[in-house]
Amino acid sequence: MQLVDEFRDPAKGRALVEAIRSRLEAIAPARPLQIMEFCGGHTHAIFRYGLNQMLPEAVEWVHGPGCPVCVLPRERVDAAVEMARRPEVIFTSFGDALRVPGSAGSLREAGAEGADVRVVYSPLDALEIARRHPDREVVFFAIGFETTMPATALTVLRAEAEEIPNFSLLCHHITTPAAVRAILDDPDLSLDGIVAPGHVASVVGADTFRFIPTEYRVPTVVSGFEPLDILQSLWMVLGQLEAGKCRLENQYRRVVNEQGSRAGRAAIERVYELAEHSRWRGLGEIDRSGVRLRPNYARFDAERRFGLVSHVAEEEALPCGEVLKGRLKPRQCPHFGGRCRPEAPLGALMVSSEGACAAYFRYTA
Ligand code: SF4
Repeated sequence: MQLVDEFRDPAKGRALVEAIRSRLEAIAPARPLQIMEFCGGHTHAIFRYGLNQMLPEAVEWVHGPGCPVCVLPRERVDAAVEMARRPEVIFTSFGDALRVPGSAGSLREAGAEGADVRVVYSPLDALEIARRHPDREVVFFAIGFETTMPATALTVLRAEAEEIPNFSLLCHHITTPAAVRAILDDPDLSLDGIVAPGHVASVVGADTFRFIPTEYRVPTVVSGFEPLDILQSLWMVLGQLEAGKCRLENQYRRVVNEQGSRAGRAAIERVYELAEHSRWRGLGEIDRSGVRLRPNYARFDAERRFGLVSHVAEEEALPCGEVLKGRLKPRQCPHFGGRCRPEAPLGALMVSSEGACAAYFRYTA
């Protein structure tokens, strides 16, 4: 606990806020600085610890698309619901994904109507269910960024080694660098700094994000998730702006190195390959931003196994994408708190506790 408490120390937090204030005075920006925290874990921490309220108005957080549940497109939920409704299937998923609205309801609603939908805490739990129910097909909804990819990859390798025939993945793993590129390519967006996702970097390495300062000239700091981590990362971004520098820094050295986890990367490399494109709710289609199982592991691909064809689903035009890019604050959405609330989410940013709209609702409504 000492390690955690150390990064929540209020006195150190106040000192960092003062240090941030003096850097802002030195920079004297003509407009509020737009700092994007890509990761939903950072968004959640910013609201939970009131960092947005402690900081001067010259800092404006832009809450990026870094919550995999929030960017799950409707058609993937539809495919999950279709699979879950098959009588031979036990559909397993992390809890957050159950509430994401699809065209014909959510997985939770499918479960209430009789589908066998089970919450698991890891893909290995799903594999264990497959071992215990050899007469059923067990599908695991594999979502998430690079952070969760190694666990599903290792589970596929375990299923292969044990020759478990009734286990498969509905794979919707997506990759952060491609999404960052898509955001930075948007000419209407001007970011002054990026606080990059520490969990992702712990797997793929801090160096993965070096293209942001090199190609896009945006100061970037890989950050941890405690309040002092985030304040220190912001202070480091401001340090670069003050010095007129632009580079990649790593605030989260206690967890992240330049190259990431060799074992994690190897598992990802062995089991997955880049798909041509992937759709992100609110952001649309992004080239080479997702992975699929390599041909060697095609038998673990639930879509193939069940012959499912994914169709792009009709979506009600919602301003979630504008929120993801920081062009709109959640409260400016006409549906916020009305048609769209955590207990009845209309858009995906209201589903997960890491979604920007849910965080606004919970901590500021
Ligand atoms: S309030 Fe709901 S509909 Fe509006 S941007 Fe947020 S999630 Fe989307």
